[in-house]
Amino acid sequence: MNGTQYKSLGGENEKLTVPPYCNNRLMKYPLHKAADGRWVHDWVRQSSVKTADMCLERFRNDIWGLVSEEIKDASTLGTACHSVAEDALNTRLNGGEMTEQDMLDSFEYYWDEALPTIQKWYSYSPESAYVSGIAKIKSWREQVLPDLKPVAVEKNFNLPLYEDDQRIITFSGTIDLVEEDRCWDWKFPGRDYSRNKWEYERWDVQSIAYSLATGIPDFSYAIMHPKGVGRMDLTRGEEHYQWFRQKVLALAKLVESQIGNYPLGDNGWWCSEKWCPNWSRCKGATTGGIN
Ligand code: SF4
Repeated sequence: MNGTQYKSLGGENEKLTVPPYCNNRLMKYPLHKAADGRWVHDWVRQSSVKTADMCLERFRNDIWGLVSEEIKDASTLGTACHSVAEDALNTRLNGGEMTEQDMLDSFEYYWDEALPTIQKWYSYSPESAYVSGIAKIKSWREQVLPDLKPVAVEKNFNLPLYEDDQRIITFSGTIDLVEEDRCWDWKFPGRDYSRNKWEYERWDVQSIAYSLATGIPDFSYAIMHPKGVGRMDLTRGEEHYQWFRQKVLALAKLVESQIGNYPLGDNGWWCSEKWCPNWSRCKGATTGGIN
């Protein structure tokens, strides 16, 4: 390996969990150098861009793997529900149909596996999470599944996003469902946020990224909340793609700058012990950390 060494990529005195340089493009480090000397950015996912919108310092910690995140109840429940949806859609893709009982059995299986791994209970007890999961699966099955025509399920992509004489930026992700004319994402949250559609219209990153990745303008969120199902339909086009590239390019230049800490974005719900794995050594370590 003969790449440049970057002492401060992870910030002063911080231990990186990946080597800070690499010339091998096959290896997935967030930032490295190509043989021609250009930066190669492999960290771009819709979630990393969304995190940067909230707090750049959290973003820096995430892309360099500086802090490990606790396994939480709500996200684990969401993952189990996603797995059931994936099973049901793959079954349909292969010409079959899962019954309601099949799906509930599938949920039991995934939930039983996931339960012992949960480290933090914030939103549920084990019992209430189970009951909520059953209700969410039933809602998804009754109100979302009937009309779906899967073309690809849990579709991975890894695509070029931007390239100039100084950098190459790729972006990657996994789309819950691709239909011929629509991409979908399932959400299994504790509240219905489909009433905030205007916000998603203006600045939602996920719908733009997935639309750009597939070339399909129409994107929908199905939101399985405690009172039923909300849905948000968004249409994305070239103007959104251009903005997404600009946002990512600005972040890429920041990442290349090799400075230590990034600006601290504490002005929202995400800056809390519950949501930020960096809390205890950042805002939580100061008197400003009182919620
Ligand atoms: S504790 Fe707050 S300011 Fe610090 S990294 Fe987390 S979200 Fe950002």
